[in-house]
Amino acid sequence: MSEFELIDLIRRMSRGRPDVRLGIGDDASLLYVPPGQELVVSTDTLVEGVHFRVGTKPDDLGWKALAVNLSDLAAMGAVPGWALLALTLPHADSAFVRGFMRGFSTLARQHEVALVGGDTTRGPLAVTITVIGFAPPKRSLLRSGALVGHDLYVSGTLGDAAAALRLDRHKRGRVAARAALRARLDRPEPRVALGLALRDVASAAIDISDGLAADLGHVLRASGVGAHVEAALLPASEALLEAVPDTRARTDLQLTGGDDYELGFTAAPRHAAALATLSRRLHLPLTRIGTIESRRGLRIVDASGRRVALKRAGYEHFKA
Ligand code: ADP
Ligand code: MG
Repeated sequence: MSEFELIDLIRRMSRGRPDVRLGIGDDASLLYVPPGQELVVSTDTLVEGVHFRVGTKPDDLGWKALAVNLSDLAAMGAVPGWALLALTLPHADSAFVRGFMRGFSTLARQHEVALVGGDTTRGPLAVTITVIGFAPPKRSLLRSGALVGHDLYVSGTLGDAAAALRLDRHKRGRVAARAALRARLDRPEPRVALGLALRDVASAAIDISDGLAADLGHVLRASGVGAHVEAALLPASEALLEAVPDTRARTDLQLTGGDDYELGFTAAPRHAAALATLSRRLHLPLTRIGTIESRRGLRIVDASGRRVALKRAGYEHFKA
């Protein structure tokens, strides 16, 4: 297949939206901006061997590349609208592109995202997606809004994706538990509906992509505050409890394992009941794990009140 046949395949496998005046095919796309809304824009790259393993199924990669981007929009409290896809491929592999677009489009359909353009180049396998969403002016959730006395929450469960990577290496745990953890690694669910609902409730939010401790650190620094976290409160899935029965090892995965794509957020204590209702409506656990304090830094204590030391804070690309 030629570059143009690949682009045509991508175009045929993507969806539009009424607010796309001109999509894939010209030098640039033309989009109607919803009146009175701010654009919320983010981009994320996945590189083979760094963000995903050699041999990852193209369908899973297509899903995940979009999911990690939608997760950033979710953390801002934005409604997703449009996406751009820059694809670098070692070969003009139509089977790969077809699989990739199947995964991408399945998730795009769920969130009504239109693919409006991109770029197709030859080189080591890498995917860059840019997403554009909408939010009413000044209503987005920022990392810098955490206030002393507010409660600290996380959505879903933590540590599953990191456990999947580790268990694959060791082949431990039952098949069903391993499959559940794998699904969390390969097909993360961006918490878009949660992000929208949190506009009215949360004082700060972030998506947890590099590990809770590292991402929470960003919120604390941006807000000029600290936090007290109780490790025993960190939400764990049934699969994680089964696959990693040792508390210390499990806590480490929950605090420093990446790729969870849950939301971490802060809210005033008076919102506790509203958050419990929201959790039921979304069928998504929202768990209070600690409190924001004025003393800077992140303090994590175990069930007996002892400080939990972290082996590593989280993933960082340019670490020596
Ligand atoms: P140009 O040479 O002007 O950059 P391209 O040949 O790269 O144009 O792209 C032609 C059209 O196809 C453009 O509208 C571009 O946005 C779209 N396109 C190219 N690659 C992709 C891709 N991977 N996904 C979506 N749209 C793409
Ligand atoms: Mg181009």
